[in-house]
Amino acid sequence: MGIIRDSKTDPNKILPMHYMWARKYYKGGIANNWTPEEVSMQRDVEQWKSSTALTPQERHLILLNLGFFSTAESLTANNLVLTVYRHVTNPECRQYILRQAFEEAVHTDTFIYCCDTLGLNPEEIYTMYENVDVIKAKDEFVVDLTKSILDPSFDIVDIKTTQQFVHDLIGYYVIMEGIFFYAGFAMMLSLRRHNKMVGIGQQFEYIMRDESLHLAFGCDLINTIKAENPEIWTHEFQAEIVCLIKKAVDLEIDYAMNACPDGLLGITSRQFVEYVQHIADRRLERIDLPTLYHVENPFPWMSQSTDLSKEKNFFETRVTEYQTAGSLDWDDKD
Ligand code: MN
Ligand code: FE
Repeated sequence: MGIIRDSKTDPNKILPMHYMWARKYYKGGIANNWTPEEVSMQRDVEQWKSSTALTPQERHLILLNLGFFSTAESLTANNLVLTVYRHVTNPECRQYILRQAFEEAVHTDTFIYCCDTLGLNPEEIYTMYENVDVIKAKDEFVVDLTKSILDPSFDIVDIKTTQQFVHDLIGYYVIMEGIFFYAGFAMMLSLRRHNKMVGIGQQFEYIMRDESLHLAFGCDLINTIKAENPEIWTHEFQAEIVCLIKKAVDLEIDYAMNACPDGLLGITSRQFVEYVQHIADRRLERIDLPTLYHVENPFPWMSQSTDLSKEKNFFETRVTEYQTAGSLDWDDKD
């Protein structure tokens, strides 16, 4: 029995559960339920329509982040449903993946809601992934990582194909949701700290809270596959992953410099570089790879940001019980 390629999962027999951490993330997702319409956009609309409330650079920052996230969310959702769900056969993991897929639909809806309320041009927002170089570079990078496994004849049959699948998981969970989302989160939450576009800021905070769970689930999934298939985690494969993460850091820094040039919102370029590096080190640690940058978090408010009344942020939380299996205590009250 394993978390992937277990042919005896048909029909999905969810009890007794084997991976209680997956159940915990499912419960966490439910506890965090929200919809974009819960957040008032009144002040955002006033500021967006005013000629003095926002500088041209701030408008550029907002549009670029809406452009990146509007299509990145659906790219992630597609990978989740078309690839991850297909190969992760364990039922409690699939239950969480279904929950995550719903959350990606909520996130996609958030950007529809933002475009509608602010009266943005959808042609402009939804084509940025093709027309804005710093966005295109990030999207192409994750899509490229996963080309081979999108081939319908792809199956996980040996070490090499298991590595390819883990490569995909790292591409979407660690790089896309874990690195490429975070400069944008920092910018939009920083804007909110300056009392600008507070409604969108709140929505980004809810999205970040969801993404912190997606990322934590993804890392536990990756670590479980590694634990169950230790032969895949070769030095060569580890070096390849580290190399990908370094490239992702460079792309994310380019994005941050374009969207939030030096000094905007009181943030220096150096702080943004260090923030992205700090985030990347946390992701490396989470999948048991050596850290690369060793810099302090220049935005400590980012990890405290989610003092919302609902579920805590998993951003800084390390889950170590990857292999705690076999519990029959499925009537868990958490
Ligand atoms: Mn999302
Ligand atoms: Fe996500």
